[in-house]
Amino acid sequence: MSTLDPHLQDIYDVVLRRNPGEDEFHQAVFEVFESLDPVVKKHPEFADSKVLERLCEPERQIIFRVPWVNDGGEIEINRGFRVEFSSILGPYKGGLRFHPSVNLGIIKFLGFEQIFKNALTGMPIGGGKGGSDFDPKGRSDREIMAFCQSFMTELYRHIGEHTDVPAGDIGVGGREIGYLFGQYKRITNRYESGVLTGKGLGWGGSLVRKEATGYGTVFFVNEMLKSRGDSFDGKRLVVSGSGNVAVYAIEKAQQLGATVIACSDSGGYVVDRAGIDLELLKELKEVRRERISLYAAQRPSASYVTDGSIWDVECDIALPCATQNELDEDAAIQLVKNGVCAVAEGANMPTTPGATRVFGDAGVLFAPGKAANAGGVATSALEMQQNASRDSWSHEYTEERLAGIMAGIHERCAAAADEYGAPGNYVVGANTSSFVQLAEAVLALGVI
Ligand code: NDP
Repeated sequence: MSTLDPHLQDIYDVVLRRNPGEDEFHQAVFEVFESLDPVVKKHPEFADSKVLERLCEPERQIIFRVPWVNDGGEIEINRGFRVEFSSILGPYKGGLRFHPSVNLGIIKFLGFEQIFKNALTGMPIGGGKGGSDFDPKGRSDREIMAFCQSFMTELYRHIGEHTDVPAGDIGVGGREIGYLFGQYKRITNRYESGVLTGKGLGWGGSLVRKEATGYGTVFFVNEMLKSRGDSFDGKRLVVSGSGNVAVYAIEKAQQLGATVIACSDSGGYVVDRAGIDLELLKELKEVRRERISLYAAQRPSASYVTDGSIWDVECDIALPCATQNELDEDAAIQLVKNGVCAVAEGANMPTTPGATRVFGDAGVLFAPGKAANAGGVATSALEMQQNASRDSWSHEYTEERLAGIMAGIHERCAAAADEYGAPGNYVVGANTSSFVQLAEAVLALGVI
């Protein structure tokens, strides 16, 4: 672990003390603090006004009981969370995660990241995150609906189109957003489209929202490659995960001329040197909700691997799109040995700090999630714009807006990295650019 400037270390020590046991939250805070020394030196007013201390303390943390009845007629109890981290730039905005690993520390790390990511988009959205330790795997549609309805029966009182606007994340896709929105509408007796994003196209959703995070990640990598006079054409990609982000990163990379040779789920990974058959992958994952092992069973050119790591597969570009801390230092060393030239975080914080350092030392282009996966939330903000004006935009126009937003994020990161003495370092660029924007707003709005 690197060391922090003493002033930043003091603030970080307080974060550790006040949030015991929340390792992922500590990690997310540390990763931002590592970049901020030159900013706080240039702007002493930020320290005087305790901007960082304020940004590290969520505005509101809600924890609630979610009781529901399973198909066997038994009552099950889960825990629900919504951490409303910062509304300094707009309504709290960030997804809901349903996964057994969810706890307060995970939601706080995601919410903290979200504040910076949302600032980077240049759009008027604050940061929040929520979810539950509910495990949707193997549940019937009726059980998913019962859980979502119970979850919303508490959550509805905390959210609203001008207050807090949740969306999807791991385990929460179009089906779950539908059940959540239905229950919100029923309880409030309001058709308030802007209260949730990621809605279905027939009832207030936006074209390209489903694809946005994966597409946006690939657009960002494309900008990085362009800055080195390179492109996706002919590149071999490895993409972890096979959920929403992974599937659409694969789709866009293929459209740009790359061959995606591996993807995964939590059971293992498939290698398909002929290139992933996207139609088959979508059918298995989006329609049948099956395991990735079935892909290999149905595709002669593919093999299924359950030992080792997907990062052992030789590739030019790696996109971790599954979950936090899935790519560690050893995996990074292997990727560098195999000649990787670019890595972008489609997931939130998938790369450990040690792995990030390996990529930096080796001169590999590295895009942090705050920048690379911001296309999802940016398109959620476009969905809110369409809901507010009761309009719906074409696929072509919305995708063009997304591509423009990702190019803008790339430009802001590159410019901030130059300004703060770390040219080409997108981690420093993303953290400093978003922090300055947030800090100026914190000062402008007074002690609130
Ligand atoms: P999904 O639930 O659609 O897919 C998640 C994928 O990751 C699945 O293939 C899942 O496999 C795999 N996965 C989850 N946990 C683990 C684990 N512990 N080990 C290995 N694989 C795992 O989620 P999303 O695609 O929406 O989200 C993926 C990541 O992207 C998350 O970090 C999320 O926070 C981030 N993100 C998502 C955005 C969005 O718009 N959806 C926006 C920005 C970031 P399995 O089915 O076996 O669990």
